[in-house]
Amino acid sequence: MSQQGTKQRVDDEFIVDTEDCEERERAFRERGTARPITVYGNPVLHKECRDVTVFDEELARLVDDMFASQRAAEGVGLAANQIGVDLKVFVYDCMDDEGVRHVGVVCNPVLEELPADRRVLDDSNEGCLSVPTAYAELARPDYAVVRGQDLDGEPIAVRGTGYFARCLQHETDHLYGYLYIDRLSKRDRKDVLKQMAEGTARYETVPND
Ligand SMILES: [Zn+2]
Repeated sequence: MSQQGTKQRVDDEFIVDTEDCEERERAFRERGTARPITVYGNPVLHKECRDVTVFDEELARLVDDMFASQRAAEGVGLAANQIGVDLKVFVYDCMDDEGVRHVGVVCNPVLEELPADRRVLDDSNEGCLSVPTAYAELARPDYAVVRGQDLDGEPIAVRGTGYFARCLQHETDHLYGYLYIDRLSKRDRKDVLKQMAEGTARYETVPND
């Protein structure tokens, strides 16, 4: 049974996540409830999440809440552990560098290793809802392929370029216990944590003990 209503098309093995974005995102979000966002220091963000093994209504409800939370916090991607749930699933609602919007869900994502000739690094700014108010430049490949499963447990592949490629890498990292700041130099990381300490999130967060 499809939890997504209409099944997304597949083109050249990749899921088509650019069609009916407005309707699909709204349907998820309106069924869900926004939850507060966990922040740097919360243990759930700093360890690998559990694999999704049951593709049921409970998973579908979690994803609805994730879309609602992502919208409330004005994020472009959200991993389950960012609302405190220890499960390998992320959602996204993100523009690529051509201004094309992508909306989707990936369970149990695995980032594909890129051939050396596809590894063009892009050093744009990156931020994270779990590191509120902070940004830093971080070099990442400008093309990414993630393989995983959809809400029915069917295998899917998602590909992205530019900012959307960055999003796919960032969200997959989350589910393995890594924040983007873990990829920064010591000095940049310190600066980011300082920015975070001095700022105030514009959305509800889970206080750390
Ligand atoms: Zn993040």
